[in-house]
Amino acid sequence: MSESSSGPDTIAAVATAVAPGQGGIAVIRLSGPQAQAAVRAVTRIPGPQLWESHRVLYGHVLAADGEERIDEVLLLLMLAPRSFTAEDVVEIHCHGGVIAVQRVLARVLEQPGVRRALPGEFSQRAVLNGRLDLTRAEAISDLVAARSQRAAQLAMAGVDGGIQQRITALRERLLDQLSELEARVDFEEDLPPLDGAALLAELQAVRAQLLQLVADAERGAVLRSGLRVALVGRPNVGKSSLLNRLSRRERAIVTDLPGTTRDLLESEIVLEGVPITLLDTAGIRATSDAVEQLGIARSHDALASADLVLLLFDLSAGWTPEDEALRQRIPAAVPHLLVGNKVDLAGTDTPVRLTGSAADIRLSASTGAGEAELVQAMLERCGALTDGSLLLSLNQRQADLAQEAADALARSDQVATEGLPWDFWTIDLRQAIHSLGEITGEELTESVLDRIFSRFCIGK
Ligand code: GDP
Repeated sequence: MSESSSGPDTIAAVATAVAPGQGGIAVIRLSGPQAQAAVRAVTRIPGPQLWESHRVLYGHVLAADGEERIDEVLLLLMLAPRSFTAEDVVEIHCHGGVIAVQRVLARVLEQPGVRRALPGEFSQRAVLNGRLDLTRAEAISDLVAARSQRAAQLAMAGVDGGIQQRITALRERLLDQLSELEARVDFEEDLPPLDGAALLAELQAVRAQLLQLVADAERGAVLRSGLRVALVGRPNVGKSSLLNRLSRRERAIVTDLPGTTRDLLESEIVLEGVPITLLDTAGIRATSDAVEQLGIARSHDALASADLVLLLFDLSAGWTPEDEALRQRIPAAVPHLLVGNKVDLAGTDTPVRLTGSAADIRLSASTGAGEAELVQAMLERCGALTDGSLLLSLNQRQADLAQEAADALARSDQVATEGLPWDFWTIDLRQAIHSLGEITGEELTESVLDRIFSRFCIGK
């Protein structure tokens, strides 16, 4: 779009969540060389207020006619390099809602050299200008996206620079070894002989730490993106009652999304800090109705995509052939829990024998008995119960790169066993160093950066 005479475009976007009738204030953020000029052009600031960095100014945003007042605003000036992007940044704090905010943004976008920001573009500039390192930028995005307290805590470890430090330290250990090797390749005769075993041990020590990070990332992913738990059972065994009870548990129900069919409901809840999508596959039962069968087919897809299936049955009715039929339909690859409900009717000391096994959990969706055990068992069965030792978690991109680096280091073992010359070792070592550099942002191309930041939301 429009180009300013020098330097990068000035970008603008609403930085806060936008919803009609919501929010006391909304913030529009501008960054770039024209930020101040653009805001000056659309505002009227009464009295002797100074356009100086890190000051707040009070005034109005005016319509194009220079008369109509669109909103009453506060302006926050942060001039380069003391800003989030290290460029001139102006924040316009307007009132919340939608209409006035969009009109203010439109006014700003009419100014020369200003265009709408792409998703993640503020963060990308902050990274490119050396204001923020890449893993911190990603962690901020994770923090904003966090759906549970635990996920937010993990993200904060990244915001504090934990990932950057860990990876940088490992990368530097590899760089040390690389320089040793390269010196040998170039000046083998002039240097003391290289201790190949020590070098290899160091590479494998780094590899072990990388693999630990990859494993932790898997545990972290559960906390971040949560689990999909499918709830199945014949009619009237208490699925809705259980769903309601779990939803109330942490007052954390977010939405009741109508699913893809009338038979599939998705609810978002948080249990012990783990976000859980509960799929209520009410319609899964044997039927000859064609429409119903369609629903059932989808229910089966839901089952196959679940991390865990809860098969609910009625303890007061015992284990019926229909319950058994349902159990047969749970894909073998998906773990399941047999949950006997209505224990208040059955009496707690009546053991319910299933074909070979008792109920994993005995519950009353009415009284809440057994609920805590159910939650524990659910999280345990999915491997989501973390002991608090998880302090840091790479995201998927970072974990993939850490795995790549670990694989490259594994190949150095191979090279060693085959007794190949030093310069063969450097190939894998360089690869590992490169992969870690892509995590920290030290070795990144513009297109990779574009790809990373395009997943951020607008205004970030
Ligand atoms: P769904 O068809 O599987 O969703 O079952 P509902 O949740 O609608 O429950 C069917 C009936 O069983 C309702 O009348 C519930 O009040 C009752 N119910 C559900 N759970 C319990 C329980 O733990 N104890 C008792 N006594 N009744 C229950």
